[in-house]
Amino acid sequence: MPICGVLGWPVRHSRSPAMHEAGYAALGLGDWRYQLLPVPPELFDEAVRALPGAGFVGANVTIPHKEAAARLADAATDAVRAIGAANTLTFRDGRIHADNTDAPGFLDALPFDPAGRSALVLGAGGSARAVVWALVQGGADVLVWNRSPERAERLCAEIGGRAVQDPPLAADLLVNTTSVGLRNEDPFKALPLHVDASGGYPCVVDLVYGSGPTALVSAAQAAGATVVDGLEVLVRQGARSFERWTGRAAPLDVLRAAARGQTGAAAG
Ligand code: NDP
Repeated sequence: MPICGVLGWPVRHSRSPAMHEAGYAALGLGDWRYQLLPVPPELFDEAVRALPGAGFVGANVTIPHKEAAARLADAATDAVRAIGAANTLTFRDGRIHADNTDAPGFLDALPFDPAGRSALVLGAGGSARAVVWALVQGGADVLVWNRSPERAERLCAEIGGRAVQDPPLAADLLVNTTSVGLRNEDPFKALPLHVDASGGYPCVVDLVYGSGPTALVSAAQAAGATVVDGLEVLVRQGARSFERWTGRAAPLDVLRAAARGQTGAAAG
């Protein structure tokens, strides 16, 4: 019985088990399982090393373990090395392989090829590193704003893009990678935002997700922008992990419905 799971602390609200198990069922992978793996930081390395012996073929990694996962791995992709974080571990040939599917998953979720487009990324935390790396690799012209400007400067020095303190009022793409919106904060007060009917940002991605649309997603939709919400980004990174482990194309609609709680599966 091949087992996968998600390592986090806390992790009980993760939608990944519902998403992956729905995918296994849809493809007839009846003996595959996906488990929540709540592991505190001090036990992370030990827990990961024990997983292959317990039947695990792979694991997703979420807050706060992504950097530890990149350090622990025996082999890592270029994306992991550049971003400094891994969200997907694969146990193969007695080795731990680290990958970052947040970056390509983000590009998969975009409605257009970012090459030659202008992008404004808000935030300079862990998820911003994957988003900026993906956009820079994809040929976009990337500006990065962060509440703490020195963090944006450091990110751009390491990964690419240009740090700005007064972001432009227009760009082809606006990406919110800050945690603003998670607790119903008003993004128009906390962030230097301009999403209105003038269409300054024709495409808006909000990595934050919850039980309903975030205030930023609602405002961008009302302004007529093309909107990608955090659940779609979650689904796309999950689909890439799913494909690495099973070797099968992920049934995207099934994963999407499960992540959005539209199936009988528990949303985690
Ligand atoms: P980090 O803790 O690494 O970074 C948090 C970022 O938010 C920093 O840039 C921080 O700025 C900024 N921030 C926090 N509070 C405020 C505020 N009040 N005003 C302005 N900026 C603020 O978090 P992550 O990058 O890991 O995650 C960020 C969000 O993205 C979370 O909500 C997370 O759930 C979501 N996420 C979604 C994913 C998906 O698949 N949809 C994947 C990964 C993350 P400063 O540096 O100044 O503190």
